[in-house]
Amino acid sequence: MTSTMRFQVPVKISLENPNDVYLHDLQFYQNAPFGTATLDELREISETRLKVLSLVERVHLQKLTMSISQRRAMLVKELQKEKLDEFAKLIDSPGCKSHTDIDIHARRRDHISHFVLRSAVAFNALKKRWFFKQEARLFKWRFSSLDSKGIKQFMSINNLNFTLISESEKEDIREYLQMSSPYVSDIDNIQFYRVSFVHTTNLIKKRKVFIKEGDAFVPEEEMAFVFVSYFKRILVSSFENAREARANLYDDERLTQIFAYLENNIHTESTVLVQDLEIQQYVSLDNLDKLAETSYPLCMRVLHKALRKNHHLTHGGRIQYCLFLKGIGLSLSDAIIFWKNEFIKVMDEIRFNKEHSYNIRFIFGLEGSRRDYQPYTCLRIMESIVGPRDYHGCPFKHMLHDILEDELMDCGFDALERSAIMNLSKDGQYSAACNKYYEIKHNCLNDTLFKHPNIYFNNSVKHCTSYHEIGDT
Ligand code: SF4
Repeated sequence: MTSTMRFQVPVKISLENPNDVYLHDLQFYQNAPFGTATLDELREISETRLKVLSLVERVHLQKLTMSISQRRAMLVKELQKEKLDEFAKLIDSPGCKSHTDIDIHARRRDHISHFVLRSAVAFNALKKRWFFKQEARLFKWRFSSLDSKGIKQFMSINNLNFTLISESEKEDIREYLQMSSPYVSDIDNIQFYRVSFVHTTNLIKKRKVFIKEGDAFVPEEEMAFVFVSYFKRILVSSFENAREARANLYDDERLTQIFAYLENNIHTESTVLVQDLEIQQYVSLDNLDKLAETSYPLCMRVLHKALRKNHHLTHGGRIQYCLFLKGIGLSLSDAIIFWKNEFIKVMDEIRFNKEHSYNIRFIFGLEGSRRDYQPYTCLRIMESIVGPRDYHGCPFKHMLHDILEDELMDCGFDALERSAIMNLSKDGQYSAACNKYYEIKHNCLNDTLFKHPNIYFNNSVKHCTSYHEIGDT
């Protein structure tokens, strides 16, 4: 016989009828699911959600410069390829057009799977962070598919009273709305919501909204930020309950096995702890050539050298290197000067401004979706597709052996040192080859393999600084 489990219902929601609970294709997952489910079903839907979240991460990393709706479309395509049509439909939904048994069933599975995974990560800080990021992304992409009616229904179901301001009110404060939202080109055709300032702190921080008497006036296109930050707050506060729920189930082998399976199958290699990426200092343009020699990992040294020599990099190289530079603390204005000074040696300034300036501003979060893009991890770089004209990717993985050997020679390594690195690279131990490169360059031993070029850089700068400090005393 198939095992079943009964969920606890800790809050006042209807116990009787799922139709009263699952009114919308999008949810905040505030209440625990109820009813019964077989263990097989629990396992299957949680594994499915894990696949969905892994795809969210993959699409996010691969399509960094795409808009949210483009990424959502890409995710839906990937889900359909994997035959996960139920999720694909939910993710692409405009709201709650119908309430058939199939709709209710899909919403319930969405609800339960979120809860099971939330409990699975409850005791692991890194996996919890991974889950939080992917869920927040998924929520944002899903929110972006709602139409106006879907948004209104979502607000009403969740008792969120964000009201649209009237035309006369808009007229009264038009000047301030225009000042606070200069990127809104046609203010007449944009609706503004009145939202309590407590829900808009991220927009206030970015000075993107006008505030009056404790309320912020948010253009409709920015409402996703309001809902996402609301959802993030719910998620953060829900982890305590998830820990408790998981702790209470510690002796139920049927569930601990599912949790263990899920936890072990969350791969967080691309999630890097923020403190590891903290910028140590602001670098200036004058320092770049020196830092490329002393503290860049080989992947970035190669890009820097190619840019200085050819005054150009292909798309993949521009993104990989620009994100790295952002991560080491180069300011946006310096980044634009840096790229421009090289590119205008092979193209005119008008073309540079038209084709490249926007992309640099985009990477720094000042255009398009205005996201805080993070520098690529080693894993992401190693997964790059690299062609013959490209310089990006990880040289220990992607470079032809004789070219890699030339690069190492250019770094001043002797034959023995080169062969130690080359052997690891030929053996497919790319991170170990990078580590050996670091050890030889810095004349030290390094225990932990690098997972991120910016961590390599930060460690190198720290090492060189302490070396000089010791040397000075
Ligand atoms: S292992 Fe990472 S840091 Fe080292 S060269 Fe490859 S991508 Fe760059």
